[in-house]
Amino acid sequence: MIVIDEVERAQAALADYLRVCDAAVAFTGAGLSTECGIPDFRSKDSAWRRHPPVPFKEFLADPQARALAWRRKFAMDDLTAGARPGRGHRALARLMTDGVVDVIVTQNIDGLHEAAGAPAQRIVELHGNGGYAACLSCGARHELADVRPRFEATGLAPECACGGPVKSATIAFGQAMPQEALRRARMASLGCDLFVAIGSSLVVHPAAAFPVLAKENGAALVIINGEPTPLDGAADLVLRGDIGSILAPFETRSLRASTS
Ligand code: NAD
Repeated sequence: MIVIDEVERAQAALADYLRVCDAAVAFTGAGLSTECGIPDFRSKDSAWRRHPPVPFKEFLADPQARALAWRRKFAMDDLTAGARPGRGHRALARLMTDGVVDVIVTQNIDGLHEAAGAPAQRIVELHGNGGYAACLSCGARHELADVRPRFEATGLAPECACGGPVKSATIAFGQAMPQEALRRARMASLGCDLFVAIGSSLVVHPAAAFPVLAKENGAALVIINGEPTPLDGAADLVLRGDIGSILAPFETRSLRASTS
């Protein structure tokens, strides 16, 4: 494991890996979006601690827990309204356009990869998307623009026309992971020769198993994070620093062109 904590050296070392890889996977977590004004989950003063997610079991069992979940969801949405993609999102979108990064596997629910221009069909959202809602019974999609005024008028957790509970289309603690997203993430991890984990504390499972899977299957593992993670020891390269600063040059620099 090599650890680099100086930004220009980190950029150069990352470029070396990106330049020679055939197929890279970017695996992203909440740390990618903090510079966009969206707090991560585990930082000490995170707003998520004031508005903690309601566990899935409680959501299912109790209409009051469902209403609480919606109040907290909208409180967080108000805090993060207007967030735009940051330097990291834009750099990854560019690396996809250039054919360096094949797939983005994200734990994030903020939709910022797509907003940055990464092709939707090559983004795997492991924990869903907070930009809309869905009925837990029939799966029908519900738009937040419809759900919110009804909720605010009645204080009652929204229900679908079928009678099922409507929930933000994210994966709550204790909720089953989306099987298709897991399958795609697994395929991407097995199919890459470079796996770059960015802004994840790498403690949430099963998501944190993908870097290990990629590494065990022969891919190089690079971790970019501001603080140590439990997988640093397994990584080939650890870049410790601010994600936006490390990724910023890749927004404009074409790695493919520089090799020709
Ligand atoms: P996490 O909060 O557990 O870890 C984020 C990591 O990023 C931390 O190690 C932190 O030190 C680091 N970090 C934060 N800002 C950084 C920066 N600018 N530069 C370098 N490092 C930085 O996040 P996680 O591992 O993704 O797990 C959080 C869970 O909560 C996920 O499952 C996700 O679904 C959800 N979540 C999503 C969002 C979002 O969509 N933006 C935000 C918060 C939580």
